[in-house]
Amino acid sequence: MKRWVVGCMVTCMALAVLCMPGAAFAGPDGQQARATVSLDFQWLRQGRAGFVHVYGQDISEVTAVFQERVFNFYPEAQAYVGLISADMESDVGTHTMQVWVRYTDGTAERFDQPVDVTYGEFGQSNVTLPASMSALLEPEINQDEIDRLANITTRFTPERYWVGGFIPISLDPLIGWFGTSRLYNGTYWYRHTGIDIAMPVGTPIIATAGGRVMLSETLAIRGGYILIDHGWGIYSGYAHLSERFVVPGQWVRQGDVIGLSGMNGRSTGAHIHWEIAVGGTWVDPEDFLTLGLNEPGA
Ligand SMILES: [Zn+2]
Repeated sequence: MKRWVVGCMVTCMALAVLCMPGAAFAGPDGQQARATVSLDFQWLRQGRAGFVHVYGQDISEVTAVFQERVFNFYPEAQAYVGLISADMESDVGTHTMQVWVRYTDGTAERFDQPVDVTYGEFGQSNVTLPASMSALLEPEINQDEIDRLANITTRFTPERYWVGGFIPISLDPLIGWFGTSRLYNGTYWYRHTGIDIAMPVGTPIIATAGGRVMLSETLAIRGGYILIDHGWGIYSGYAHLSERFVVPGQWVRQGDVIGLSGMNGRSTGAHIHWEIAVGGTWVDPEDFLTLGLNEPGA
């Protein structure tokens, strides 16, 4: 039912554009396309993100629909640039991304761009929680937190708040990998949404890039938690913190100390859980750092 409704929504969006006056379509039967869609990658692994550039004259707006999620594109010096993401649980194979390009004269083109999604090569692990934490395996508690964060990370901020790329908090020693299927106490499966780096409680935690604080509070699973909006649909999250030094609405710069690491929430040892969301889904933070975020418009 849900899939049918979403499919219908996408179809309705397509019909809405079809009915726009002057709409023109690129493709084998269409007129000469006025724009060019270019992928920065050959394929996307599950749980990874990649840049897409759209080149052309007199473009006023670009959006894309990929895996039933809508992505906004942003004007840079040379092109409109979008950052798309493959959900870690998306099907392996070729997906069609619909790119809608609107022009200043009111016309529009639609490009059906194939995007190959490959295996994320995620691992599995078993986690044993003490009885005192067993309440944190309740599906409702987990779903509440998933919904709460998704309600924020699915929003697109058109401004780019970061300058000069993203930096890692630390990548050593890495003790938990992105996307791992974790079986808690032999009963509850959960996909790991970020990476874990071991560090003593009280280690200063920095903002990976500039942005605006969206959340700074204690959550059931993530414990002391900070979520930062970096613009362009990118968010970074920092979990199990023992101290938080920022409040929602506050602006932070790259490298600012925003809190101290801890081991609260659903944590069995002292570490930082660091996670990155792009376009409403979690992506591999280590891979994200390699995307060429210094010059997204180049
Ligand atoms: Zn973690």
